[in-house]
Amino acid sequence: MSGARVLEADVGVVGAGPAGLAAAAALAAGGLRVVVLDEGQRAGGQIFRQLPEGLQPQRAPAEPPSHHRGHGLLVAAQAQRERIDHRTLATVWNAQPGRLWFEQGGASWLLRCQRIVLAPGAYDRCVPFPGWTLPGVVTAGALQVMVRGFGVVPGRRALVAGSGPLLLPTVAALLTAGVEVVAALEASPRARFWRALPAVLGSGAKLREAFWYARRLVAAGVRLRWGWTVFEVRGEGAVQQAVIGRVDAEGRPRRDTAQTVAVDVVGTGFGLLPAIELGQLLGCQTAYQVVRGGHALVVDRTQATSVPGVFAAGEICGIGGAEVAIAEGELAAARILQELRQQPLSEALVLRAARERRVADALLSAFAPLPGLVGLPDDDTIVCRCEDVPLRVARTAAALHGSALRGIKVGCRAGMGPCQGRICGPSLQGVATGDGTRIADLPIAQVPAKPVCSATIVDAPVG
Ligand SMILES: Cc1cc2nc3c(=O)[nH]c(=O)nc-3n(C[C@H](O)[C@H](O)[C@H](O)COP(=O)(O)OP(=O)(O)OC[C@H]3O[C@@H](n4cnc5c(N)ncnc54)[C@H](O)[C@@H]3O)c2cc1C
Repeated sequence: MSGARVLEADVGVVGAGPAGLAAAAALAAGGLRVVVLDEGQRAGGQIFRQLPEGLQPQRAPAEPPSHHRGHGLLVAAQAQRERIDHRTLATVWNAQPGRLWFEQGGASWLLRCQRIVLAPGAYDRCVPFPGWTLPGVVTAGALQVMVRGFGVVPGRRALVAGSGPLLLPTVAALLTAGVEVVAALEASPRARFWRALPAVLGSGAKLREAFWYARRLVAAGVRLRWGWTVFEVRGEGAVQQAVIGRVDAEGRPRRDTAQTVAVDVVGTGFGLLPAIELGQLLGCQTAYQVVRGGHALVVDRTQATSVPGVFAAGEICGIGGAEVAIAEGELAAARILQELRQQPLSEALVLRAARERRVADALLSAFAPLPGLVGLPDDDTIVCRCEDVPLRVARTAAALHGSALRGIKVGCRAGMGPCQGRICGPSLQGVATGDGTRIADLPIAQVPAKPVCSATIVDAPVG
């Protein structure tokens, strides 16, 4: 350990994704000193992910239209480098109003700031099924990180299955890496998508993005099959086969349609979950919104949370995608500049952020979680992979201790391992009770919000 250190800034921003970058660039352009903390190696967040410094792709990946926006954000933030102190590999593990504690370079740091902008993004939503813990089964988001963030080619023949807009970039990333995608399965029924379409037609950005991905899939001969999902993955120590089939409109597997495909990698993503734990530690109000991925921070029309001095933007306020994240990041910055620099807040920014949210909500309504997917795992399927808890044991725990998340955890240790329930938590109550319509309880946030060295906590500077 190299000792504890303290930083001062006008604003501390958690996350260098589209929301955090947009906020930081606007705050700095308005004359404020900003510290951006991100646990990643480079700026960009999930969607505008860059390869680590010094690595070059063997062939330049084709990029969807939204990524030009990402380059613009990176340039805008870079242009303000005198006012933006961007700290990479900096993990924020605790927060109080005006205080962010983080670990960087083996040292324990405290950032003192007048305002906080939370923009930590989201997590993949996992749904357990037989074989989902085999090496080679990877979440859709993690596949993106492997391919686009580290240049890793994860296999030769892939299956992509799940639900939501992230499936298309996942297929595209695999194709770019030279992986054959043998099937792309969207669990939602196509009719849901048609119902959501009229609202999306108003968004030029979303349409351009959808056409860009659709062209790539068509060119590679990959057809998106609506109302299909993965039932099981088989293999000796690694993925060798996947059993796929149709689901009904509620997501219940139709076992009579099962067929087998030979694959060596399976990407699954059943949507995303807002990463709210830092907001919870700060005491921010949350609300459950099914189309936005579940529990999310509540913000007012200018991105202010319920805690004075704390703002939030992007996926933490509910899943919405990059356009929403950018609009909300800029709006949060404008509100802070109004408070600290008495700059007028443009109503146009408020309206733009609200419009982007409306379009995202409409699109994501086509991919709201299907309750019948809780029927995918069998008795022996591991539902908590940290603690190796099979479904049978989780069911017994729910029967004995009640169906609350806390009761199931106490009864079988599910959710008590290193991931602290981020992977199993959202589906645990549904699969353990067999009731997929059940709203998952709000998880309890604990310090440290992210894994850090115990010395970081012991040496933490006192606020
Ligand atoms: C794994 C993954 C891959 C994705 N890939 C795509 C894609 O290819 N295309 C697409 O359209 N959408 C993708 N998405 C959706 C994407 O999250 C949004 O569209 C968009 O990036 C959201 O912007 P954001 O700024 O809210 O969050 P993000 O872009 O997720 O940025 C959040 C940033 O906060 C940092 N962070 C989080 N917690 C902490 C902490 N405690 N301390 C320090 N730093 C922290 C993260 O490292 C990250 O860089 C992906 C989502 C995930 C989870």
